[in-house]
Amino acid sequence: MPMRVIRTGEIRLLWDGNKICALAGSDLQEGVAGFGDDVPEALIDLANRIRSEETTIWVPQSAKQFFEDGVLKCACPECGHIKEMSGFDEVIAYICNNCGAGVDVGPLQENDG
Ligand SMILES: [Zn+2]
Repeated sequence: MPMRVIRTGEIRLLWDGNKICALAGSDLQEGVAGFGDDVPEALIDLANRIRSEETTIWVPQSAKQFFEDGVLKCACPECGHIKEMSGFDEVIAYICNNCGAGVDVGPLQENDG
């Protein structure tokens, strides 16, 4: 079985029948889920499944945004590609046109100097 990589920054908790489901990923097909009678049991089951299945949870990093020569730029945390955001004062998310990753962007670093 090939190694699965699930890109997600959060674990969701929801009911599945009368069990608590702890879900990493977008849904039960794409992601990996643990089940239990309460939240700790569901999280422990999830952790055990991530360990036993050939699954890696990849937590996406936030991109940094910065001004260079008056132009807002973002550095993709996945591939390092620098994208110019001309016309924007601040961005919160974008799609990297080099690697195609959906990138969340951290707050703009103010230059205090
Ligand atoms: Zn990229």
